[in-house]
Amino acid sequence: MTVVVLGSANLDLVYEVERIPAPGETVLSLGSGSFAGGKGNNQAVAAARAGSPTRFITALGRDAAGDRLAAEARAAGIDLLDRRTDAPTGTAAIFVDRRGENSIVVNSGANAELTDLTAAERAAIAAADVLVLQLETPVDTVAEAAAAAKAAGTRVVLNAAPSGAVPHAVLREVDVLVVNEHEAAELAGPDDPMTALTGLGCAVIITLGAAGALVGVPGEAPVTVPSHTVDAVDTTGAGDTFVGAFAAALDGEGLDALVAATGFATAAAALAVQRKGAVPSIPTLEEVRAFRD
Ligand code: ADP
Repeated sequence: MTVVVLGSANLDLVYEVERIPAPGETVLSLGSGSFAGGKGNNQAVAAARAGSPTRFITALGRDAAGDRLAAEARAAGIDLLDRRTDAPTGTAAIFVDRRGENSIVVNSGANAELTDLTAAERAAIAAADVLVLQLETPVDTVAEAAAAAKAAGTRVVLNAAPSGAVPHAVLREVDVLVVNEHEAAELAGPDDPMTALTGLGCAVIITLGAAGALVGVPGEAPVTVPSHTVDAVDTTGAGDTFVGAFAAALDGEGLDALVAATGFATAAAALAVQRKGAVPSIPTLEEVRAFRD
């Protein structure tokens, strides 16, 4: 499938610390590194590595971080449609302590300026088989992109992450909603999440961490797709790998096609959790095929 991802790109600045500093405290880092990140960027890399022709619509600053993210996206095989804004490239300052607990501050920067789609961006959405959206982009833009896709017959996959309210006007345009258990509970409220979310009229995938994923369509009993048993060393980016690989593998409609794409996505994510980092851990199509054989 040809995939277009619209969403965030950030430079993640990761600091390893003995313990996360309390207010007013300064601590020395044990080591640091900077990595390409942002849900949109990670999902675009996952779709491209899964073998799909992939375009990525995003906003970057006119700065060194923007140049680096653009170069890395292109090196991953992505056809990048980047806007450059006066706001700086999005960054995330991530403190990780010895126990693996983290504290994160995100500056959306340029990502907040991804508004009012251009004719070229609309054309890219219309030309693709699948549009992938997340919630690190202004919600009005998510709505605009979803409506443009719907009008053009492009299928809409919304990864409603990070968790937050999604207007019903947006959900009406969504073909497949992908959420983790926490996001599902937040969207569904006190009701059974799968029943409540398929009740909105779209297909729903609830990822269940090491337990795999639950796939549902309105009016049919949900199907559990089990995960692969692996030694997880770092689950950062597992959800993004899942979403990008799922979009790349989504071929056809109905429960069977969704279950097949979910099977591919759980294999890709099982490979990703066995390696450190987000983008570096995302597997290629050959790796997923070899793992499944
Ligand atoms: P998120 O990372 O967005 O919170 P999940 O924790 O549900 O989402 O993980 C997404 C997917 O990654 C799961 O559906 C599963 O396929 C895979 N996954 C996550 N953790 C593991 C694990 N420990 N072992 C194998 N697969 C995993």
